[in-house]
Amino acid sequence: MLIDTYGRVATDLRVSLTDRCNLRCTYCMPEEGLQWLAKPELLTDDEIVRMVRIAVTELGVTDVRFTGGEPLLRPGLTGIIQACAALGPRPRMSLTTNGIGLRRTASALREAGLDRVNVSLDTLRPEVFHTLTRRDRHHDVLAGLEAATAAGMAPVKVNTVLMRGLNDDEAPELLSWALDHGYELRFIEQMPLDAQHGWQRTDMVTADEILTALGSRFRLTPEGESVRGSAPAERWLVDGGPGRVGVIGSVTRPFCRACDRTRLTADGQVRNCLFAREESDLRTALRSGASDAEMAALWKAAMWGKKAGSGLDDPAFLQPERPMSAIGG
Ligand code: SAM
Ligand code: SF4
Repeated sequence: MLIDTYGRVATDLRVSLTDRCNLRCTYCMPEEGLQWLAKPELLTDDEIVRMVRIAVTELGVTDVRFTGGEPLLRPGLTGIIQACAALGPRPRMSLTTNGIGLRRTASALREAGLDRVNVSLDTLRPEVFHTLTRRDRHHDVLAGLEAATAAGMAPVKVNTVLMRGLNDDEAPELLSWALDHGYELRFIEQMPLDAQHGWQRTDMVTADEILTALGSRFRLTPEGESVRGSAPAERWLVDGGPGRVGVIGSVTRPFCRACDRTRLTADGQVRNCLFAREESDLRTALRSGASDAEMAALWKAAMWGKKAGSGLDDPAFLQPERPMSAIGG
């Protein structure tokens, strides 16, 4: 098991498949992009599958989420999913994507074994999408969402970050749209993980503000702590259900005490927290002939030292060196 000194057990693995992206969301990356990882630094498809195999067969991981950067940019994605679906026990697999290219790939991903998808979409207005992502691809994301539903991935979730003065007036409209289309919407508080280090607490649209805005149009009933479990989203039934909405208050309502995550970066570093400033290099061991048991022992050691919390409320908090796009959001 991947247990830490506080007794938390990690069963949910986030795998970043690339640090590259075809959008430039202002809360994530600068307009010019970033210094991308060089190809030899990236784990190969086979190395990724081996790491997932070790996690699933030796370490008790039950859920694997592929992310990035933009994971649909990884040429071997379908093959990676297919190989992971053949593992025993088979992990549940999901993907977090900006949705560009999903129209073309959704059914092949589903056939390969992908169970669920989270598509990030922050606005229903194409011009606001352009301002937020610096690209004119709003229609591609909508088409990707439709393709995910058509391919039978359920529930299709939508991740939304609200930015003050840009899309913070859209919360009720987004929820109404999501309910109409059968998508499960989750609002995520903006976190200090942007490459530009531009995050300001005072600019952040808080979970409370989001709930107040939604409450002006909908009746929200909490689903309760038992349902939240280790899930970061607090969930509400909308107008009595069955539709629901989630709010991930990573900053103002942290869920560190129940965290069950472990993370693998595209260049083979294990991270025990999104906000950790330390990483454990497993790639060197992987490429030096380490056995599965040796790799598992290194992974366990990396998780053992996980801190109690993100440290966001500590005045001495420092952002991790890597931005969200390179850690894997
Ligand atoms: N490119 C894919 C996407 O956008 O879904 C996957 C990677 S992205 C880093 C994963 C999620 O992190 C997205 O839902 C995105 O909106 C969110 N995200 C990125 N930067 C963020 C930040 N500073 N605060 C909160 N969420 C952020
Ligand atoms: Fe790309 Fe996702 Fe970051 Fe937007 S949030 S720039 S889509 S990695």
